[in-house]
Amino acid sequence: MTITESVSKKEREGCKGCSADVRVTGEQIERLLSRMKPEVCVTDELYEKRLAACRACQSFAYDTTCMHCGCLVQVRAKMKDKGCPHPQQAVKALWEALS
Ligand code: SF4
Repeated sequence: MTITESVSKKEREGCKGCSADVRVTGEQIERLLSRMKPEVCVTDELYEKRLAACRACQSFAYDTTCMHCGCLVQVRAKMKDKGCPHPQQAVKALWEALS
């Protein structure tokens, strides 16, 4: 395979993270959240604050996905031990300063 063929294939198929088959529905997210153990979850209040920060972030895609880690934001925001993976410290600090 040549570089040209490789690029053409990539352009045709696009990024895996951007293809329709990796997108999830709100129902699927709710099912995932319902299986999480309470001891690993943040409070509902903090969860909503984190989600609001993600919704305002330019790296939030498809209403579900963080473009820096590929995580479902709703799951990441729910977990106590997760932080924001944004490469800019200022954005990370905003998300992580929430309480
Ligand atoms: S970079 Fe941080 S604030 Fe932006 S979508 Fe990802 S987790 Fe949310």
